[in-house]
Amino acid sequence: RAKESGKNQYRFCSAAMKEEVSERLSVANSLAGALERGELRLLYQPQLSLHSGRIIGMEALIRWERPGIGSVPPQLFIPIAESTGLISAIGDWVLRTACEQNKTWQDLGLPRVRMAVNISVHQLRDPGFASKVTGTLVATGLDPEDLELEVTESGAIREQDQIVQVLGEIKQKGVSISIDDFGTEYSSLSRLKQLPVDKVKLDMEFVHGIEESPKDQAITRGMISLARNLGLKVVAEGVETQAQLDFLESRMCDEVQGYYYYRPLSAEEMEEVLRTAAAGEREPDRRVIGP
Ligand code: C2E
Ligand code: MG
Ligand code: MG
Ligand code: MG
Repeated sequence: RAKESGKNQYRFCSAAMKEEVSERLSVANSLAGALERGELRLLYQPQLSLHSGRIIGMEALIRWERPGIGSVPPQLFIPIAESTGLISAIGDWVLRTACEQNKTWQDLGLPRVRMAVNISVHQLRDPGFASKVTGTLVATGLDPEDLELEVTESGAIREQDQIVQVLGEIKQKGVSISIDDFGTEYSSLSRLKQLPVDKVKLDMEFVHGIEESPKDQAITRGMISLARNLGLKVVAEGVETQAQLDFLESRMCDEVQGYYYYRPLSAEEMEEVLRTAAAGEREPDRRVIGP
């Protein structure tokens, strides 16, 4: 398109592209040392059961506190970590830290909940990944039932038998597997029944469309009933309003996560939320806490 709009436009794009490449290189360079410098941290976002109204889990979400720049969102650096191979070390750190943290909270006597960890498809290409997960559980003392892996729906997962096998091995050990961003990829629905998964996470794109778009309502209804008929649990992500919640509740969605309840919280804030839950509050405030 740049070419069509003339020479100047083309030169402009080319300069922008150069800038982007150098930006990526600079990010890759400082990301390489971010782990050792302690610049990575995890936030935790509660997940609630619509059946009991209680917090039954949380998702670990990575942040990079880049000196002089601030908090870098994962969408900006995870793709770079993937293309440079750094994702392996970062992914190991995330898994280890999240498991350790969950075990620490359990040892403090806080309510037992499940920790969900995002896994990149690059990590699943490692044939030793299943034993890495087991090793981490043994090292941290966390029960496999208190860990869940979120894997983004992608062609790779559906088409590569090796990845399906790794997921199957992990599931066999008692760890839950969920399909993240469900509905965003063109998916072969017939293949879904063959995947070793327990849960789908309905992408927030549909959740956000519920109020205005009858089509998004139809898609959401369809996806929930498909998943339920396959014996899978359904989690809705990105729930921001009472109307979205009411719709999901009436359509038999199992679990929800989103700003309507909680934003991603620091470990200290999450611990406080668990303490409050332990103190016997039937249902947490429907109130946004955190940044
Ligand atoms: P995701 O796994 O689909 O995570 C959901 C994203 O939605 C998170 O963004 C979360 O902060 C955001 N979110 C939660 N509730 C709401 C809401 O009510 N409204 C809106 N608008 N957004 C909401 P975040 O933390 O920026 O993470 C983005 C993506 O980065 C994640 O998408 C995940 O794919 C990836 N990611 C995060 N942490 C990790 C990690 O440790 N490893 C890997 N491989 N990927 C990660
Ligand atoms: Mg996720
Ligand atoms: Mg998602
Ligand atoms: Mg996502």
